[in-house]
Amino acid sequence: MLDNNIKKHIESYVLDYNNFKKTKTSWKKPLVAFADANDPLFKELKKIISPSHCLPTELLSDAKSVIAYFIPFVESIPKSNIHGRNCSIEWSYAYIETNQLIIDLNKSLEKFFTEKGFSCKVTPPTHNFDEEKLISDWSHKHIAFIAGLGKFGVHHLLITKKGCCGRLGSIVTNAKLVPTKRPEKEFCLYKSKGICLECVKKCVNQSLKEQTYNRHKCYEMCLENDSLYSELGTTDICGKCSTIVPCSFNNPTK
Ligand code: SF4
Ligand code: SF4
Repeated sequence: MLDNNIKKHIESYVLDYNNFKKTKTSWKKPLVAFADANDPLFKELKKIISPSHCLPTELLSDAKSVIAYFIPFVESIPKSNIHGRNCSIEWSYAYIETNQLIIDLNKSLEKFFTEKGFSCKVTPPTHNFDEEKLISDWSHKHIAFIAGLGKFGVHHLLITKKGCCGRLGSIVTNAKLVPTKRPEKEFCLYKSKGICLECVKKCVNQSLKEQTYNRHKCYEMCLENDSLYSELGTTDICGKCSTIVPCSFNNPTK
C-alpha cells in the first residue's frame, strides 16, 4: 500500500510539474524502484566508487529503504540535441529545470513521509549543488542500479526500461518497502550482443571508446557547454552519446 502510494505520488508530481511551474521542459511518466537499505551492494560502492561513498545508514541512521526514480524527458528534448558539437539550448534548459524538479519533488516526499510518521534523507540532484562532502558521495546512477531501475551501457549511463534520456534521483527513508527485483539480462546492445556502439560514434570529444571512458575529456566538453550557456546557470553537460541512440528511449534488447 505504502509502496504504491509513493509511486503514485512521484508519478503525479512529475506529470503535473510542467503545468504547475510553466516550465519549458516536459517529462514522461517516471519509473520508481526500491532497494533494501542493507543490500550488500551498497558496501561495494565504497570499493567501486570511493571509500567515502555513503551507505544509506550513513545518511539516515535507521534507514530501511532507498527510493530511486528515473524521470524521462519527452522525446523532443533529445531530438533537439542531435546536431553539432555543443548541446542544444533545450537540453540545457531540461538539465536546469529537471534539477529544480528533483529538488521540489524531494521536498514533497519529505512532507509525504513526515505526515506518515517516517523520516527520510534527501540528496541533491547533482554534485554541483552540493556543499557537503557527505552528500556528494552519493551516486544516483549506482543507487538506481542497486534498486533495479536498469543496467549500465557502454556510455556509462544507466539504461532503464524507458531508456537513458532523463535524470535520476534517490532518497533514503526509514519506511520498510518491498525491494524491486534487479533485471538479470543486460540492456545495452553491445553488452548483450556485441553490436551497436552508436554512443561511441556519437561522442564529440573522443572521451568514450569501446572499452574506456576518459572522465577528464568528458568534463572538458561539459565545461565548454557550460561557458556557452553561462547566462542560464550551471550547464556542465553534454549528452551527445545518449542522444538518439538505440537506448535513448527504451531497453533496446527487449
Ligand atoms: S548506444 Fe548502443 S552500445 Fe551504446 S550504451 Fe546504448 S545500446 Fe549500448
Ligand atoms: S557526454 Fe559528451 S563528451 Fe562525454 S562521453 Fe558523452 S558525448 Fe562524449
